Amino acid sequence: MISLKCPNCNAELSVNEGRDVLYCEYCGHKILLGTKHEFTYTYHEIDEAKIKKHEVHEKIKLKKLDNEYKSKRILLIVGLLCLGYSVLAPLLMSFEYKSSINKYENSISGESIAVPFSSSDLTSEKYEVARTELENVGFTNITYIPINDFGILEAVVEGKVSEVSIDGKNSFKAGQRFPINAPVIIRYHSAK
Ligand SMILES: [Zn+2]
Repeated sequence: MISLKCPNCNAELSVNEGRDVLYCEYCGHKILLGTKHEFTYTYHEIDEAKIKKHEVHEKIKLKKLDNEYKSKRILLIVGLLCLGYSVLAPLLMSFEYKSSINKYENSISGESIAVPFSSSDLTSEKYEVARTELENVGFTNITYIPINDFGILEAVVEGKVSEVSIDGKNSFKAGQRFPINAPVIIRYHSAK
């Protein structure tokens, strides 16, 4: 009997003298026994190839995982952006709504109103829009006059404000004050 170590797994093995080939009882490694009780072993090319194949396979697996991770991360980011927008948009809208209400509330002081827009701001509006703006500001005495000029001027668009006068003034600046019951006259382009 001779004893030797498996070159692959280091297990202690014993074998009868005279044998040429031994398979490790622990890992199955093929051990070639030469003369003088020395042994040589072949580290099979097949094994190396297997290991190589395994390594390549592992690399492919890792790459797949990495790609999956990347695409999941992109989905996560897109999801978070959508969520953020859906949460923020209503907040911003309500903030804008509140600030527009505040603008009108602040413009009324006692019996006078500071208009938050100038006369030229209103002249490009549809007359219904101008009316709503003026009503929101708090004016109570609003008259509309269609001026029947549709088709006479090239750039005229029906329903658009031609002129707004407050308290007899057809030119005013944003922030200018008027009595709350000042007569407001909206003249607008019409075909009638
Ligand atoms: Zn072994």
